[in-house]
Amino acid sequence: MSGSDSIVIAGAAQAGGRAAQAMRGAGFEGRILLIGEETWLPYERPPLSKALIVEGGGHETVHLHDPDYYESHRIETLLGAPVESIDLAARTVRVDGGDIAYDRLLLTTGARVRRLPVPGADLPGVHYLRTLDDSFAIRDSLVPGARVAVVGGGFIGLEIAASARKRGCAVTVIEATDRLMGRAVAPEIGNWFAEMHRAKGVDIRLGAGVERFGGEGKLEHVALVGGEEIPCDLAIVGIGIIPNSEIALEAGLEVENGIVVDAFGRTGDPHIWAAGDVANQPNALLGRNLRLESYENAQTQGTAVGGNMVSDEAKAHEDRLWVWSDQFDVNLQMIGLADDYDRIVHRGEPTEESFAVFYLASGKVVAANTINLGREMRTIERVVAARAELSPEQLADPSVNLRKLMRA
Ligand SMILES: Cc1cc2nc3c(=O)[nH]c(=O)nc-3n(C[C@H](O)[C@H](O)[C@H](O)COP(=O)(O)OP(=O)(O)OC[C@H]3O[C@@H](n4cnc5c(N)ncnc54)[C@H](O)[C@@H]3O)c2cc1C
Repeated sequence: MSGSDSIVIAGAAQAGGRAAQAMRGAGFEGRILLIGEETWLPYERPPLSKALIVEGGGHETVHLHDPDYYESHRIETLLGAPVESIDLAARTVRVDGGDIAYDRLLLTTGARVRRLPVPGADLPGVHYLRTLDDSFAIRDSLVPGARVAVVGGGFIGLEIAASARKRGCAVTVIEATDRLMGRAVAPEIGNWFAEMHRAKGVDIRLGAGVERFGGEGKLEHVALVGGEEIPCDLAIVGIGIIPNSEIALEAGLEVENGIVVDAFGRTGDPHIWAAGDVANQPNALLGRNLRLESYENAQTQGTAVGGNMVSDEAKAHEDRLWVWSDQFDVNLQMIGLADDYDRIVHRGEPTEESFAVFYLASGKVVAANTINLGREMRTIERVVAARAELSPEQLADPSVNLRKLMRA
């Protein structure tokens, strides 16, 4: 593309920020304009439920780059101003009533929280966690002794439960299904985490639906289906996210569980790409499309697609499907997708502090989790990537050197 071309990036967070960086890194000399709905410069979200809550710190601790980076790299920013619509024919985006022209457009609009549609959900004291501002507001309320109800036993709910507990709060986790992190890990891993949280003083309620939030002018309790009322000073709801794909859909781009792109990040319009949590991309490992909600995908897909937008030699982005979560002092890592398996093999005992779990489908290892065993992840990742057909006995025996087996 020409060095005088203009690129607009809608969504100024991790994927958008990394894409802009990759464009300049690839030598693109034209205009780059990052447009963001939030008022902050691009930042990373993982600390919002962890370090930022427990250790404190300001917005500068999570930013991708210092403010002068944008100036020195001639990356313009327009913050606090969402893109309202896209005109494919005119190649413009509408922002704050005016039109901004682009030669190429990248959509990194990510996702927003799913809201709980129950009475009382608007009461002061009911929080959601997605943005830096959400995290600051929650942190301010997590004073020692505060009673916290966490609705949703997924990663975000459990991380914020652990952080609240570390800040000396009394924490109850309310999960509608009968297991924790049910979309991502096997029941035994969920059970292990339930026991771990309980041992740290978190009250874990499984199979508990929320009927309403109650209180006079502010939140005072969460009423469960069946009548029980859990008194609380604040509630934090973490029940999933919804991709911000409306502007793409309204413009006529293909949208199905996010913006549909090819392996290079291209939409059906030759001037528009998408990346990050909002993009639904083919995954070579799985042989199907997937919309990922992960730090690493935002990082690597944002970087790859940003590079592709300014290069003549586009490279396919291949995600290795790696995600982590930190809860108390426990590090959980996941590789592959544990959604279609017929057998589980433990390496080490789930009664111990650290162990691994392999997910097998028709004898092949398709996914794995490590609990406090991050140092073995590189080897385990090779086993998963190769779809290795190792025997359950070999996988289960910690004395068997998997690295050597993979080399054989
Ligand atoms: C609290 C928390 C903890 C997490 N912890 C982990 C973890 O431990 N491990 C892990 O793998 N992942 C974790 N994640 C997930 C990871 O942070 C996300 O996958 C990642 O932030 C996705 O980045 P993104 O840039 O694609 O989208 P987002 O981060 O959602 O950013 C999209 C941006 O676009 C903006 N936007 C939306 N619409 C418009 C518009 N029309 N115009 C302009 N701007 C718009 C949004 O306001 C937002 O700023 C965590 C997420 C959260 C919220």
